[in-house]
Amino acid sequence: MKRLVKAINEVKKRYEQDEIPKIIKGAKGIAPEVVRLREQDFATVKCETCRYWEPKSKNCKVLVIDVEATQTCDAFQGLESGFKKYNIGRERIESFKKGIIKSKALNLKVFQSLLSPVGWLLLIKDGLNHIYSLELNDFVDMTSMNNGWMQDEVEKIIKSGKEG
Ligand code: SF4
Repeated sequence: MKRLVKAINEVKKRYEQDEIPKIIKGAKGIAPEVVRLREQDFATVKCETCRYWEPKSKNCKVLVIDVEATQTCDAFQGLESGFKKYNIGRERIESFKKGIIKSKALNLKVFQSLLSPVGWLLLIKDGLNHIYSLELNDFVDMTSMNNGWMQDEVEKIIKSGKEG
């Protein structure tokens, strides 16, 4: 556990030292055009179900402006209480597995990083064209714990990023 915490802290330090490309300097509200503020793309993806939306004031913590419940942007991040669970059914698990592989639905692409008032955000697009963000700490936790990324592998990723 100690090693894991150390590894996470080391990666965080590197990110904080501006080693990610396309960084927006300063922790001010992100400009709406940077995260393409727009009408919702999907019924499940909208400000109303985003963790950064304040329902009372309609203020977005990332953009630091008022936004409508039916809008969305690339920094969307689902609320734990706001999502609708889909249904597979046991008899369709095999087809579900094959379909995920065939359609590349889980191909994740990190396409942007932003320093926002809520901290570092990584913007991600999946194979179904769902766009959302993950906070850096959550991304590091997820890839360390779920994917088992190790420090030497992350060093290689950082090196390849530096080389452009
Ligand atoms: S981060 Fe984007 S999706 Fe979330 S509340 Fe702000 S504008 Fe809406």
